[in-house]
Amino acid sequence: MAQQEDVFKKIVSHCKEYGFVFPSSEIYDGLGAVYDYGQMGVELKNNIKSYWWQSMVLLHDNIVGIDSAIFMHPTIWKASGHVDAFNDPLIDNRDSKKRYRADVLIEDQLAKYDEKIEKEVAKARKRFGDSFDEAQYRATSKNVLEHQAKRDALHERYAAAMNANDLNELKQIILDEGIVCPISGTRNWTDVRQFNLMFSTEMGSTADANMKVYLRPETAQGIFVNYLNVQKTGRMKIPFGIAQIGKAFRNEIVARQFIFRMREFEQMEMQFFVRPGSELEWFPKWKQTRMQWHQALGFGAENYRFHDHDKLAHYANAATDIEFLMPFGFKEVEGIHSRTNFDLSQHEKYSGKSIKYFDPELNESYTPYVIETSIGVDRMFLSVMCASYKEEALEGGETRVVLALPPALAPVKLAILPLVRKDGLPEKAREIFNELKFHFNCQYDEKDSIGKRYRRQDAIGTPYCITVDHDTLEDNCVTLRNRDTMEQERVPVAELDHLLADKVSLTSLLKKLK
Ligand code: ATP
Repeated sequence: MAQQEDVFKKIVSHCKEYGFVFPSSEIYDGLGAVYDYGQMGVELKNNIKSYWWQSMVLLHDNIVGIDSAIFMHPTIWKASGHVDAFNDPLIDNRDSKKRYRADVLIEDQLAKYDEKIEKEVAKARKRFGDSFDEAQYRATSKNVLEHQAKRDALHERYAAAMNANDLNELKQIILDEGIVCPISGTRNWTDVRQFNLMFSTEMGSTADANMKVYLRPETAQGIFVNYLNVQKTGRMKIPFGIAQIGKAFRNEIVARQFIFRMREFEQMEMQFFVRPGSELEWFPKWKQTRMQWHQALGFGAENYRFHDHDKLAHYANAATDIEFLMPFGFKEVEGIHSRTNFDLSQHEKYSGKSIKYFDPELNESYTPYVIETSIGVDRMFLSVMCASYKEEALEGGETRVVLALPPALAPVKLAILPLVRKDGLPEKAREIFNELKFHFNCQYDEKDSIGKRYRRQDAIGTPYCITVDHDTLEDNCVTLRNRDTMEQERVPVAELDHLLADKVSLTSLLKKLK
C-alpha cells in the first residue's frame, strides 16, 4: 500500500511537471480541492470528452446533446430534493479538529475487514501451493469466517442506519467499531450532523430584490427541465436520450486525493427516457454499454468492477457504480442509476405544468422513466493517468517514465524532431509539421539531444516521434519511433498521414464499441 501511495504522489507531481494539472491559484497557496488544467491536461481532457460525446451522440441515432446553463431557477433544486436532502453526514474529531464523512469512515472500516480476509487467503495460498482450494478455504477457515461475520454485521447495521438517516446510530457504529481519527489517533468524536453540499450565491443587483440561486451540483436537472423542448423540437420518440457535458459544484466536506474529489468539477451525463415499466430492462443494457466504453481503452478488464448500491438515493430503484482500480483502491468513476419518473414528476408538481410525453404507439400520455449514466470527467482523467503512468527499466540501468496513453486520447499524436539544429534540417522538419498539423496534433521540438527529446515526448504520452536527418533531404524518408516498443523504422514522409491516421484517431477507438 505504501508503495502505491508513492506511485500516486509521483503521478500528482508528474501532472504538474508536464503541464497536465496545476493547483488553482497556486501563487496564493491554492484553493482547497480546486484545480486548473494546463496545456497538456486540457488536450487530454478534451479528448476524453470527445470520446464520450461521440460514443453517445454519433453512435446512437436516438441520443442528442444539449448545453444548459449552470444557474437555474432555485425551485428546481427544491423539486429535485437537493435543498432538503443533498447532504453528507459529517463528524469532527475534537483533538485533531479534522472533519470527516461518517459514511466514509465506516466504509473504510468495511474495507479493512475485506483486506484482512484477503490477507488470510493469500497466506493460505502460499502455504498450500498448487493443491489450494480457495472456495473451500473461504467457506471453512475459522479466521476468514470470523472476519466475514463481523463485516456482514457491520454492513447490515450501516445500511440500515443510512437508509433510516439515523445520525446517532452512525456515531454509535463509529464508537462501537473503535474507529480512530487517522491524525490524532483518538476516539474523541462530535455528534454526526448533516451538511448540505450545494454552493449558493445571489442573483440581482439590489439588496431587497435578490434571489438565492445555486451553482448546480449535477448537470442532470438541466436535461430534465428541457426534455420536452428537445423531444418536441427534435421529434424524438421514446426511447431516446439527451447527453450533456458541463461543470458541477459541490462543497465537499473532505476533499482529498487530488482531482478525485473536487469542489468544482465536470460531469458527462446522459438521461435515457423510456416507457414506464421498461426501465429495469434498459438498466443492464446501459451498464454493459458503459463498461464496454471503459474497457475499449485497453487498460485491462481486471481493473474495473461494478459496485451495486446498498443505499439507494431518494430517486432511484436500481443503481450501480463502475469502479476503477486507482493506486488507492477500487473507486467510483461512473454512476448508472435507474431514476424512475421521480425528477420529471417532481418538476411537474413544482412548476404546475404538464410535462408528459404523448406516446403515439400506445396512444397515451405518461411521465417517462429515466436511466442515467453519469461520469466525472476529472475522475476519468485521473483513472487514465494512473493506468498510463509507467516507470520502465531500460537496458544499461537507465529508467524512463512513459505515459502509455491510448493514442486516441494522447494530447500530442506526433513529435517532429530535426536531428540537429542546422544543415537545413529544421526547415525540412517545419515543412513536414506544416503539412501534418492539419491532420492531427503535432509538436515541433529542436531543443536538446534527441534522447532527451524522446524522453520528454514519452512523459507526455506522445505515441509517435519522427526524426528528420541528413538522409531525409535526399530520400524524403524519416525515422518513425514507437513510444511503447521504442522500435524505429524508416518511412516515406508522404506515407505518414496514412500510416498514423488510423492508429491515433478517435474513429478507430469508437469502432471498438460495436
Ligand atoms: P461520491 O460517492 O464519490 O461522492 P457520488 O455518488 O456522489 O460520488 P454522483 O452524484 O453519482 O457521485 O456523480 C456522478 C459522477 O460525478 C461520479 O461518478 C464522479 O465521477 C463524479 N463526481 C461526483 N462528485 C465529484 C467530485 N466532488 N469531484 C469529482 N468528480 C465527482
